[in-house]
Amino acid sequence: MYFRCFAGCPEKHSIFDVIYTCPNCGSLLEVHHEREPLKTKTAAEWKQLFSSRASTSVWPYGSGVWGMREWVIPMLADENVVSMFEGNTNLFWAERLGEQLGVPDLWIKLCGNSHTGSFKDLGMTVLVSVVKQMMQQGSSVKAVACASTGDTSAALAAYAAYAGIPAVIFLPAGKVSTAQLIQPVANGAHVLALDTDFDGCMKIVQEVTEDNSIYLANSMNSLRIEGQKTVGVEIVRQFEWEVPDWIIIPVGNLGNISALHKGFQLMIDLGLIDRMPRLVAAQAQAANPFYESFKAGFENKVSKTAKDTLANAIRIGDPVSYEKAVTAVKETNGIVEQASEDELAEAAATADLTGMFCCPHTGVALAVLKKLVANGTIGKDEKTVVVSTAHGLKFTDFKVGYHESTLDGVTSRHANPAARLPADASAVKDEIARRLSL
Ligand SMILES: *Cc1c(COP(=O)(O)O)cnc(C)c1O
Ligand SMILES: [Zn+2]
Repeated sequence: MYFRCFAGCPEKHSIFDVIYTCPNCGSLLEVHHEREPLKTKTAAEWKQLFSSRASTSVWPYGSGVWGMREWVIPMLADENVVSMFEGNTNLFWAERLGEQLGVPDLWIKLCGNSHTGSFKDLGMTVLVSVVKQMMQQGSSVKAVACASTGDTSAALAAYAAYAGIPAVIFLPAGKVSTAQLIQPVANGAHVLALDTDFDGCMKIVQEVTEDNSIYLANSMNSLRIEGQKTVGVEIVRQFEWEVPDWIIIPVGNLGNISALHKGFQLMIDLGLIDRMPRLVAAQAQAANPFYESFKAGFENKVSKTAKDTLANAIRIGDPVSYEKAVTAVKETNGIVEQASEDELAEAAATADLTGMFCCPHTGVALAVLKKLVANGTIGKDEKTVVVSTAHGLKFTDFKVGYHESTLDGVTSRHANPAARLPADASAVKDEIARRLSL
């Protein structure tokens, strides 16, 4: 395996080199796995191997990422795997929600049930492991850094701390939740809050990492895609190797939809599956450059200044992995759709009433699902998976704001504030009787 230019330049680069873009044309790189060595196992053997490792405690195969080690970074030494047994998250049947929305075969992949509360852990275990091996081999790298809307920095800080590698985090001041800010602080990262937005932080971190002593961990670094792509394989494994009809995922920088496609492509090439699911990229209307590109037939990349959105992890105006995501959408007959602040909050609140606890990004995906079912794009018999990307507990400001009816541009139709009552049994009985219509 090696890095190659996504735009097609012929050079190969070692994945242990400090390199993020093609030195020739400036395009993103991608990790390429030669198919021939992987074809020494049959499709049935791969399925059996991956299924047998899932959720065991055998190092490092009990990790959902490293359980597919041969497909991720085969040449990584055991002692350099930096893993907290990420992945293997639950995929559950959202029976009541699916019925309400008119897609009874609706499944939620709860990626937020993970170490730092978002699916960013999947990519970060890979990136930090490679950095550990680079450092062991005498590389100039001394630390890792990223600009972040919150979840990337939490994952980087945690995995770097686990490995004992210093981490530098650049955050847009005042634009991430308390929970997102406090994670890197607690993990001992060097947290720098800058007076700019995410795209501004991204520019600074690229300058700071130019001299090769600090390794850039943003998703322009395609190592992370290798870990993130395991979600697609994991979903199919959890369905006993059946491919769902649709997968809906909230998108910002567009690395993760590219990763899903990459995982599915590998499964097709090795014969584990015979078709692609249709991928849906769900954007917040306040930060929708990919939606606009899609509407214009992907003629040009649209970049714009992202506006404020409750879905702050996808508040991105100039998505790094644009070209890869265009390929992912085109090759899966995919769709890009958007959701307003009111729609995302409503969708999250409705889902919460069926037992979920959705982050705002998952709200974006669910609002998009609702639209696609309503306009007949997603049929009522189609197996549909929504990727829930972060844990709702990271976004309590969003939840509290909704139920206190204080969110801008949002009508809290399902506000359910706690009732304040005297400590008096008859008052309590009256209240319960009134609520339950007893
Ligand atoms: C990073 C992230 C996304 C979007 O992933 P991209 O690769 O940036 O498109 C969605 N939801 C959450 C919670 C995230 O942290
Ligand atoms: Zn190139």
